[in-house]
Amino acid sequence: MLTTVTAGPYTIRGVSVGGVYTSLAVPELGLVFDAGISPRSAGGIDTILLSHGHADHVGALPALLGIRALHGKPKPPRVVMPAEIVDDLQAALAALTKLQRFPLAIEAIGMNPGDELALRPDLIIRAVRTFHPVPSLGYVVVRRVAKLRAEFRGLPGPEIAARRLAGEAMLENEDRLELAYATDTLVSVLDHSPELLKTRVLIIECTFLDDRKSLEAARAGCHIHLDEIIERAERFENEHIVMMHVSQLYRPDEVAGILDARVPAALRNKIIPFVPNGTSWPG
Ligand SMILES: [Zn+2]
Ligand SMILES: [Zn+2]
Repeated sequence: MLTTVTAGPYTIRGVSVGGVYTSLAVPELGLVFDAGISPRSAGGIDTILLSHGHADHVGALPALLGIRALHGKPKPPRVVMPAEIVDDLQAALAALTKLQRFPLAIEAIGMNPGDELALRPDLIIRAVRTFHPVPSLGYVVVRRVAKLRAEFRGLPGPEIAARRLAGEAMLENEDRLELAYATDTLVSVLDHSPELLKTRVLIIECTFLDDRKSLEAARAGCHIHLDEIIERAERFENEHIVMMHVSQLYRPDEVAGILDARVPAALRNKIIPFVPNGTSWPG
C-alpha cells in the first residue's frame, strides 16, 4: 500500500494521489507531512505538518491519533498547521473526541508564512506561503550548524583555542536547506519562495502532467501543471525533486514515461516520481 523512495539521505514513505489522499513520512527527520491517510507506520512519528485543511490532507488525522494511542505513545503529537485553521481543527477533534468517548489530543502549533519553529536546536521548520483557495502553507526544513566564522578559518588551532577562551565569539550559524514540502499550490510558490529551488530535496506537487488537463484548468484549481515545471527547468538547483500529488487521470505506470518524453534530461534526472509500482493507485 505504501510507496517508498529514497532522495539523498532521506526516505519518503507514504501515499499521495492528487485530490484523494496524501501523507508522507520522512523518518530520518521524524516528520509526517499531511494526514490524508493514516499508515500504521506513521503512528510512531511525533511531528505532523499539515499543508491545509482539505480532507485529502487532514481527513485521516483522527485515525492517525488513534493509531498513536495503540502504539502506546504517551504524549499528544505536535501538529503544525496554518494559524488560521487551528481553531477549526481543534473543534473538529473535539467533536470526534465526543463521538469516540476517547480523547484525540494534539499540541497544535499555528504558523504564518516566514515563521520558524525549532524542533531541536539544529533542526528548524520554516513556513512558506503557498497559493490555494484556503489557508495553506509549505514547509522548509533547515539544519542549523555552528561554524567557525570566516575570519578565523585558517588560524592555527592553539590561537583559535586561546581566542575562544578569551571569550571571543568564534562561531556563526549556517542554515542548510535540507528538504521542502509544497503542495496544493500555484507554481508561483517557486517565485515567491525561491529558497525552495535550493533545498537538497524538494517534495512538490505536480498534479497534472499533460494536456489531459489544460494549464488553465490546472491553475483554476490552484495546482501545478508539468508545463510550468518545464518552463522553469533551469532554475531547480535541488539534488532531488520528489514529484507527488499526481492526479488519477494518469496511471502510475505512465508517469515515468511522460516525464521521460517531456522533461529536459538535466531536470528529469533529478525527478523521482512518487507513484506506486504497477498500473493502479493504492485503494
Ligand atoms: Zn490535495
Ligand atoms: Zn487542496
